[in-house]
Amino acid sequence: MDFIISKVEKLKDEMIQHRRFFHQHPETGWFTFFTTAEIIKKLKEYKYELKLGREIVSPEKREGLGSKEESLAALARARKLLDEKDHDLLKVMEDGLTGVVAEVDTKREGPCVAFRFDIDGVDVTESTKEDHRPFKEGFSSDIKSITHACGHDGHISIGLALAKIISENIDDFKGKFKFIFQTAEEGCRGAVGMEPTGILDGVDYLLGAHIGFQATQSKGVICGVNKFLSTSKFDVTFKGKSAHAAGAPQEGANALLAAAEAAIQMHSITRHSGGTTRINVGKLIAGEGRNVIAPNAFMACETRGVTTELNDFMKNKCMNIVEGVAKIHSVDYEVRQTGGTAGGDSSQFITDLIYESSCESPYIENDLIVKNYDFGACEDYAHFMRTVQNAGGQSGYLMIGTFLDAGHHNECFDFDEYALLAGLDIFLRTAYKLSQK
Ligand SMILES: [Zn+2]
Ligand SMILES: [Zn+2]
Repeated sequence: MDFIISKVEKLKDEMIQHRRFFHQHPETGWFTFFTTAEIIKKLKEYKYELKLGREIVSPEKREGLGSKEESLAALARARKLLDEKDHDLLKVMEDGLTGVVAEVDTKREGPCVAFRFDIDGVDVTESTKEDHRPFKEGFSSDIKSITHACGHDGHISIGLALAKIISENIDDFKGKFKFIFQTAEEGCRGAVGMEPTGILDGVDYLLGAHIGFQATQSKGVICGVNKFLSTSKFDVTFKGKSAHAAGAPQEGANALLAAAEAAIQMHSITRHSGGTTRINVGKLIAGEGRNVIAPNAFMACETRGVTTELNDFMKNKCMNIVEGVAKIHSVDYEVRQTGGTAGGDSSQFITDLIYESSCESPYIENDLIVKNYDFGACEDYAHFMRTVQNAGGQSGYLMIGTFLDAGHHNECFDFDEYALLAGLDIFLRTAYKLSQK
């Protein structure tokens, strides 16, 4: 299959250019307006049929949407960045129905192969240290507090290159292809908003990948990621009653104490013997003044479990705690789900294929190939993966090796762009294995 090398090499400069372009203009969550518009432009050029807006996102199923003001600010920035002739592309995205699904039918009988690429950035301000390459070479983020600090800029670049090659060589293939460019992966909010629209209906094989994470050596790869943790993200607000802290404390209802007690109780949940679980209260804001019984409190929480069932166990315990402390302190409460995803394992059939592709790839060194790996963290992809597997399809997830300057979500995050070529090569080889005519 060495004809693949020349196809990959031909796109090397373009891939790096795309990656750096998206790196410069990061957006977060559901508000990836500019990013989506730029991806649409390219996919149209490659002659794909596109599904957009309400066809691929269920507005009310979106989690962690963000405020109207944030949405408007992101839209205004997208307008500024886009050429005026492309402003119409934003219409279908309304208040944040972003992301795009591209499809092509070879009109020859065969499987439906889908690929998923995430496209959002991270809420972190990019480093301006002299030795931070994006800054040094002039392609760092153009906005404070948002950075492509997880590598999704690279994922977009790989996805576009793969779509271009498959389209240009469509006579080599049978069946159908689907490219899912998904937003709001950070915080595990996007997949649950897209899946209900049926974008995965009829998908036989679904493949996804991440640059880096536990694949920390360039020319290395992890072929099949297992033990994705299931997670729930939720906010809790307590509403009590203010009163004079010395004169009439008995008349108050202390929301601060309710939240503090809930945080400690959540972290003290007796663990399930069935496997790994996690809990974190990452934020707690409460109270108004030193001499006032605190009338309000806010907590941002998350649970994780090695299976969906174990995560549900943790989440249910948390709900009991919230209800219990609310009763103790006579306060009201509200819980709002802001994100979450299923757990699961890659299908071994896909892992085996990725392994074969990796062994053949000139961009991978054989002694740096890891066949199976237990992730022990969360990825929104797992929700898509579980959906496809439950419907009888097969789905896998690989990690593309790269040396990292700093960990994911760090202000100094950057990756070896060699990983773009390795990722494209493995995806393309696997596409040929699944669907060559
Ligand atoms: Zn991330
Ligand atoms: Zn990521």
